[in-house]
Amino acid sequence: MTRYEELFEVDRAHFMHPSTHAHDHAAGTLKGRIIKSASGIRVRDSEGREFIDGFAGLYCVNIGYGRLEIAEAMYEQAKQLAYYHTYAGHSSEAIIELSSRIIDWAPAGMKKVYYGLSGSDANETQVKLVRYYNNVLGRPLKKKIIARQRAYHGSGIMSGSLTGLPSFHQNFDLPQQDIKHAMCPHFYKAPAGMDEAAYVRMCADDLEQLILSEGPDTVAAFIGEPVMGTGGIIVPPAGYWEAVQAVLSKYDVLLIADEVVCGFGRLGTPMGSQFFNMKPDLITVAKGLTSAYAPMSASIIGEKVWSVIEQASTREGPMGHGWTYSGHPVCAAAALANLNILETENIAANAAQVGTYFNQRLREGLKTSPIVGEVRGVGMLAAVEFVADIEQRTPFDPARKVGPMVAAACMERGLIARALPHADVLGFAPPLVLTTAEADEIVSITQAAIESVAKEVS
Ligand code: PLP
Repeated sequence: MTRYEELFEVDRAHFMHPSTHAHDHAAGTLKGRIIKSASGIRVRDSEGREFIDGFAGLYCVNIGYGRLEIAEAMYEQAKQLAYYHTYAGHSSEAIIELSSRIIDWAPAGMKKVYYGLSGSDANETQVKLVRYYNNVLGRPLKKKIIARQRAYHGSGIMSGSLTGLPSFHQNFDLPQQDIKHAMCPHFYKAPAGMDEAAYVRMCADDLEQLILSEGPDTVAAFIGEPVMGTGGIIVPPAGYWEAVQAVLSKYDVLLIADEVVCGFGRLGTPMGSQFFNMKPDLITVAKGLTSAYAPMSASIIGEKVWSVIEQASTREGPMGHGWTYSGHPVCAAAALANLNILETENIAANAAQVGTYFNQRLREGLKTSPIVGEVRGVGMLAAVEFVADIEQRTPFDPARKVGPMVAAACMERGLIARALPHADVLGFAPPLVLTTAEADEIVSITQAAIESVAKEVS
């Protein structure tokens, strides 16, 4: 038995993987992969195969792989101060600098940054902040949070409840009762003949009706990804965020922007909020904050919420919320080095430019495919949706697993693209340093993969 065969055996015996078919993994019918090294946009496995990572890990390696500056910054920080907690006013130099840098990246009106280690825990913090805010304001009934069908906000108890994908609720007794879901703004699924403006009104009315039926006094916040990620990389129709924000302010409902995917340049702007002119009260970031070189997330708190919390502390004392690793200095050093690279190399501008090129090439390259219903995207995010009937926009029978078939066909050809969990959608979220030549490579592999699957399923 080779060393890798032995490793796979131990992996099957003892490693519980996220979102993985337990029986198929244990039986070895789900063949795993050991990733050994990576640089730029490419990763290499234990068999020596190289893949273009068209999904930047999980939309997170914004600056690309293998940047030694980050490894060095983490090493230097670990030598000087590997850890100290941040309770009761303790800080490290790195976390202080990082907090003001994050505020600079955020849209106007943001004041404080609370740190976590994952997008899920940062959204758990947001739910707690929203509850705390309304409790100290003497509005104990104003607790419900509205998310959207097909949203992804993590997989904790509350963040998993906010997620609007049934597979993340199944057998977990989720969603929790204070979490509601409004409709997903996917214009491709609009009733036949409806124009974009009418569809936006339909989305806003749906939200308003939900607030009214729950009772505005019970609805505390609305959470949304500027562009939906895992639910299908869904770009909202023009005017959507303006219409949503008008409804929220009418009923005094806070806006939480979940920027875990869109933050730190993916749409070509610092965060997705600036792209869509959103004015959130709270912002969640993770992934691109460190480009995943270290686990770190943040809940960014706007002036409006923070001033209430600060004032309440004279009466309530310190807020009973904290994690041991909040503001970890080694993660902060990684984040600072990452922001330096993003800023000095103007990587968000590359995401805008090459992302636009990539999306155009994908649209052109797939327009005659008999199974491609929609190609959509913005910045360095793109998705291809497969349908059985293009005219009628009829989906394939989910049992045929057309999305996963195309992802597998891409993989055979050396490209990682992700079959998203809802509908037959192939998602792309490459590192933001992608070049036009690399974009061409991704498009031609995708075309070939789709062509081969189309022959099989048409
Ligand atoms: N929010 C969004 C928009 C995400 O895409 C994700 C993960 O993909 C999360 C939250 C959860 O982040 P994590 O997996 O780090 O818990």
